[in-house]
Amino acid sequence: MFDDLRDLYQEVILDHGRKPRNFRRLENADRSARGDNPMCGDRMGLFLKLTPDGHIADAAFQGRGCAISMASASLMTETVKGKTAAEAEELGTRFRGLAMTGTCPDCGTGLADEMERLQPLSGVHEYPSRVKCATLAWHTLNAALEGTPGEERMASSE
Ligand code: ZN
Repeated sequence: MFDDLRDLYQEVILDHGRKPRNFRRLENADRSARGDNPMCGDRMGLFLKLTPDGHIADAAFQGRGCAISMASASLMTETVKGKTAAEAEELGTRFRGLAMTGTCPDCGTGLADEMERLQPLSGVHEYPSRVKCATLAWHTLNAALEGTPGEERMASSE
């Protein structure tokens, strides 16, 4: 990777890790889930508001953990807003591939802008123990989407 691109990615992760976006509890959330990554000690609660036709109207999280887990959750909540549940799950599938391999063969087809926003975390594939930090938010998102209103689901990145 070019050094200036690596620096830019590093800057995005540090910025989102220090000042996570959408870091709050959502009152009257339609879906919620807790995520736990015992390998690193990352924990988060995720809250979603859904529209009647199944779009994600709002997404927010609270928690504590390493910079990568917080940056990933911050970027995830920004990226899935306005998406359908199916699109959000597709983004999660691609993101997990990106985090594990550093590449995303499908990323040119649909949702390309969204995947570009998630690229700063692609570098974690070089540090296998940190992949779970990056994917925790997306596991937690899936748990929340698969849940029912009023139910709080648990997700683990293991
Ligand atoms: Zn972590």
